[in-house]
Amino acid sequence: MKVDELPVDERIKKIIRERGIEELYPPQAEALKSGVLEGKNLVLAIPTASGKTLVSEIVMINKLLREGGKAVYLVPLKALAEEKYREFKEWESLGVRVAATTGDYDSTDEWLGRYDIIVATAEKFDSLLRHSPGWIKDVKLIVADEVHLIGSYDRGATLEMILSHMLGRAQILALSATVGNAEELAEWLDAALVMSDWRPVELRKGVFHLGQLFWEDGKIDRYPENWESLAIDAVKKGKQALVFVNTRRSAEKEAVSLSSKVSRLLTKPETRQLEELTSQIEDNPTTEKLKRALRGGVAFHHAGLSRAERTLIEDAFRDGLIKVITATPTLAVGVNTPAFRVIIRDTKRYAGFGWTDIPVLEIQQMMGRAGRPKYDRYGEAIIVARTDDPKNLMERYVHGKPEKLFSMLANEQAFRSQILALITNFGILNFRELVSFLERTFYAHQRGDIASLEYKAKNVVYFLIENEFIDMDVEDRFMALPFGRRTSQLYIDPVTAKKFRDAFPMLEKNPNPFGIFQLIASTPDMATLTARKRELEDYLDLAYEFEEKLYTNIPYYEDSRFQGFLSQVKTAKVLLDWINEVPETRIYETYNIDPGDLYRILELADWLMYALIELYRLFEPKEDVLNYLRDLHLRLRHGVREELLELVRLPNIGRKRARALYNAGFRTPEDIMRAKVKDLLEVEGIGIKVVEGLFKHFGVEMPGKVKDAGKKAERKKKGTLDAFLK
Ligand code: ADP
Repeated sequence: MKVDELPVDERIKKIIRERGIEELYPPQAEALKSGVLEGKNLVLAIPTASGKTLVSEIVMINKLLREGGKAVYLVPLKALAEEKYREFKEWESLGVRVAATTGDYDSTDEWLGRYDIIVATAEKFDSLLRHSPGWIKDVKLIVADEVHLIGSYDRGATLEMILSHMLGRAQILALSATVGNAEELAEWLDAALVMSDWRPVELRKGVFHLGQLFWEDGKIDRYPENWESLAIDAVKKGKQALVFVNTRRSAEKEAVSLSSKVSRLLTKPETRQLEELTSQIEDNPTTEKLKRALRGGVAFHHAGLSRAERTLIEDAFRDGLIKVITATPTLAVGVNTPAFRVIIRDTKRYAGFGWTDIPVLEIQQMMGRAGRPKYDRYGEAIIVARTDDPKNLMERYVHGKPEKLFSMLANEQAFRSQILALITNFGILNFRELVSFLERTFYAHQRGDIASLEYKAKNVVYFLIENEFIDMDVEDRFMALPFGRRTSQLYIDPVTAKKFRDAFPMLEKNPNPFGIFQLIASTPDMATLTARKRELEDYLDLAYEFEEKLYTNIPYYEDSRFQGFLSQVKTAKVLLDWINEVPETRIYETYNIDPGDLYRILELADWLMYALIELYRLFEPKEDVLNYLRDLHLRLRHGVREELLELVRLPNIGRKRARALYNAGFRTPEDIMRAKVKDLLEVEGIGIKVVEGLFKHFGVEMPGKVKDAGKKAERKKKGTLDAFLK
């Protein structure tokens, strides 16, 4: 189908043609003929890179131009929200306004009312639904990207509930990888189904075993015995390779090992460009290894890296500068980084108690990354048989079908939070109404029978009544209590809220950072850093040292909670170091964690600290305790000691700048207000932009002359040998 033949506004076709697209891919054409342009729901289950995004763009813009209202685009990761946001911005020339929203779960975000396309993570949109902002009623279309995540244990329930809420209220376009039961999903959503294996680039699949590469069509190629030769061969052919491994440490190890071989294949300009790229990366133990690999044209990619580093790697790979990426499966989700050759080194991963096979669905998503449209005539996906029999791998992953999706609604943690929300935020009045809502879910559709879900729901309701989240009147009608309503809006697990409330009396008597951090770390909403076997004793000692500060008893050694508790102690100690201004690098080394781990626990702790304060406010708070908590929250957010609190309240002043100002003698905002611009610029990390921001904050106009002088001083500072060597 030609773009010209599309039954949509001319302006839409023009923009598509400007992207150089004249002809739609077959599954795209089929999708757009399914009735989706006339408002019918659609499940589109096709491989990665076969153009799902373009379909969703056409559907969204067509709808907005014809009917007005809003379209919401749901993504599974924050990084993807940014990527989609940038892509959709292009439509603003048609007067369509695009916004992205990911963080802050306690907000109505009324500002979003001004936008037409809203890109959001599923969790963010779920939290928005609970706050019911005025604009929600205008949502006419929901696009759910990567909808197969309905089957994911921790994230699935959220997506399922959003769709259950919106079903019948808005059009639904669900984008999915190929799954075993797409029909079932489509039936549930009362949607047309377009399913296809069509790919823009042909995909050749094979299994590698001790130097022999068995292709699915029976052909055999020979290579040196080690699988690394597959990656190096790709580079020799002028192509790129993507290697999937199952742990962060393997990703790092393989990257460094490969880089020594790949480096010989680089051109001089490439080596120079890579050196330049390397210099843009901050120094810490993780990036030290990254830099070593990067100089040889290889990078690793895993959740231990910061977002900025991951983006930098993805971009340089797309530009062809990085030749090989070794990655944990996080890269297989979403972000668009295709390569000529995909090598899957591991098909097993460690899951709590032992090694398990990675699902076919996931392996096929990794394989789907092979072949760069426009650059490659075909792509190659190769599974390495290390311990498994190559025949089995061929059977299971190459010829095999992806698994079916199963509803994860019954996952206890997600379920209790969703039941609470139904009662406190969505006006479910009694148990009968609750059951009839549950009947609309994928769970009910799939099982045909919700007796066991009903039983679970009953238990949750008892728990919620018993702990005063909700109440029931004489006619068995639910009543939302303030504690329940607030818990739901704060988007935390009721068990977290209960833990907080139970700890408040002790916290009031003995407010201290370690106790509060351990409390936060003990909730199901926090991701703790695992205390390793050989660390257990150290953290037990630490727990005894801090015993007076804790709001809980130290469990006995035999107690099943013992190891979990020590992980909480470790996490609390990291947070404590953070607010005592221990340098980040030292934290990574001491606790053997990556920067990504630190960011993750800081982000979660920030949100939980906020929730703790908000809940405390419901229970006749003591003013001094409240102030203490607020100060601690600010320290946590910025990673500073108490003495810097006043400084970090200023715009653009974070951990490092505040410390530098303080040490240079500018200890209060008044000190800064009185200071000479020239003296401020002497302080490390303080440039003219920051000073301008400060002046603006104080409501003082900076004289133009001072500004110019400041710029000159700054240039001079940059010009020194010292600055150059930095
Ligand atoms: P998916 O969302 O299915 O993973 P994308 O929508 O990101 O895939 O598409 C992958 C790439 O293919 C994008 O660069 C997109 O511009 C391009 N593309 C999509 N449709 C077409 C088409 N009909 N012709 C040529 N290129 C296309």
